[in-house]
Amino acid sequence: MMNLIDEGGKRLDGRSFDQLRPFSMQAGLLKSASGSAYIEQGGNKILVGVYGPRDSRSRYGTNQDKAVLRCRYHMLPFSTEERKSPQPSRREIEISKVIRDALEPALLLEEFPRSVIDIYIEVLQSDGGSRGASITAASIALADAGIPMKDLVSAVAVGKVNGHLVLDLSDTEDKEGEVDLPIAVMLNSGLITLMQMDGKLSEDEFRQAIDLAMAGAKELREAQRKALVQKYFKEVDS
Ligand code: ADP
Repeated sequence: MMNLIDEGGKRLDGRSFDQLRPFSMQAGLLKSASGSAYIEQGGNKILVGVYGPRDSRSRYGTNQDKAVLRCRYHMLPFSTEERKSPQPSRREIEISKVIRDALEPALLLEEFPRSVIDIYIEVLQSDGGSRGASITAASIALADAGIPMKDLVSAVAVGKVNGHLVLDLSDTEDKEGEVDLPIAVMLNSGLITLMQMDGKLSEDEFRQAIDLAMAGAKELREAQRKALVQKYFKEVDS
């Protein structure tokens, strides 16, 4: 087992167990998307553009009662250590689906029948936990697009490394640790919209891991809110 925690109880990057990686978020940076966001979290650099709601042109895939939400999570060839093929991998197809499903419960899609909303996620650089950072950023981009939402969705992975529960796994902790547990939550209602677990936890550890994730999500949610407020005041100023 790789040593991921030092004698002082610090992680490889110097963080404590319950500490998020450094992060920053920005809303509304793209001119031609309906809404957009950029997030950095650890070494992740992720850009999200939302298009829509707009009228659905095709009969196939149109819903008479609500907007259809579509999502593409894509990693650029230079986003990983080894060049990634630009073709969508099975992993990217699966992650696109789980991200879509994590965001849908937050959106009032009934307000836009017969239309589509597209979320395009481009991972410029990845560093573990990219699905969580993508959800957090996509949520900002959807709000920036003016799509009515019940709440923002905030997401982060928790896990277990060298027997310790830790918040916001780095790429190395994700690969070398015992457990990876990404979680997305709508904090207002406490609704969990994504949870995937790799590895094993006792029930007690599981409860502690959820608490850790909730605390992390709360911090991220505050930054999501701030990014949106900042964008709004920029518009008022100009
Ligand atoms: P997440 O990014 O949500 O943690 P995974 O657990 O599948 O998703 O991936 C963990 C990390 O592994 C990614 O953030 C990325 O840095 C790296 N990775 C994923 N796919 C590839 C790939 N095809 N080639 C190289 N590295 C990859």
